[in-house]
Amino acid sequence: MENFKKLLRRRKTFIVAFIAALGSFLIGVTLPINSPGNQPPALSSNAQLVTVSESQAKQPKFDVNNLTLAIREKVEFSQKAMVQLQESRFESTVPSKFKGTTLREAKLDSRQKAIALTFDDGPWPTTTTQVLDILKKNNIKATFFWVGRYLQVYPELGKQVAAAGHAIGNHTWNHQYIKYNEEGAAREIDRTTALIEKVTGVKTSIFRPPGGILNNGLAAYAQKRNYTVVMWSADSLDWRTNTESLMENVMKQANSGGIVLMHDGGGNRARTVEALPDIIAKFRKEGYTFVTVPELFKMEANDLKQQKTAHK
Ligand SMILES: [Zn+2]
Repeated sequence: MENFKKLLRRRKTFIVAFIAALGSFLIGVTLPINSPGNQPPALSSNAQLVTVSESQAKQPKFDVNNLTLAIREKVEFSQKAMVQLQESRFESTVPSKFKGTTLREAKLDSRQKAIALTFDDGPWPTTTTQVLDILKKNNIKATFFWVGRYLQVYPELGKQVAAAGHAIGNHTWNHQYIKYNEEGAAREIDRTTALIEKVTGVKTSIFRPPGGILNNGLAAYAQKRNYTVVMWSADSLDWRTNTESLMENVMKQANSGGIVLMHDGGGNRARTVEALPDIIAKFRKEGYTFVTVPELFKMEANDLKQQKTAHK
């Protein structure tokens, strides 16, 4: 239902644009019909007005076929734009060359200075909303790795995150540090991905193993299912440190193409919320732009493409 409302809201924007486009089209259609042979002589502006309105009275017809065609074109254009908008907003997948791999950071052209902020263990009451507000104020898109059972309890928070255009990743259903056989791993990962899609419409293909553990069966299953396993290059250690050293941890490990690990859920994340505005300000000062994890690897893929073309 929520998704439908969202769609309706977007549709409204397109309808307004469509009416505007139709209006300009009608002006375009009626004017050329009037002009040949009906050009008013260059008299006073009053005389011009009279001539035009008289000629319009004599010319009530316009080509219906042209109009139908034009309307169809505009509708098709709007539909395409809508699909593009949805695809770009709800993309939580990296370029295909990175599927089934494990990534800690992107290798970017040295001229690019981009970094991805990631938030794990949500959705979570209060702190997820606070993080969202800070990101919105700073016009930043980030990446959230969700725990399925928390999303089940707080679906509305999940919807807010997705509606704000952030990328969404899978962080298992139960967030446990135990060994899994394939069946167990499938339950943890498949169930979470299915719920993410059901709640937000996002089809995610990025996975982050709880605790960054890569050898307990989860990451292996994720790779087998073509997920990109997303680790990090800068750990805030926000779960065990104070605000000041949290910030230091992030800043001293940060580099272009880097992925910063923070938490918006799974416990008291007041320190993360407190440090976040300063972390953002510091990165900005150093010339960084903020992107989602999928965007970061798209940048790497594009850089590689450009390098290849340059070498040809
Ligand atoms: Zn976690």
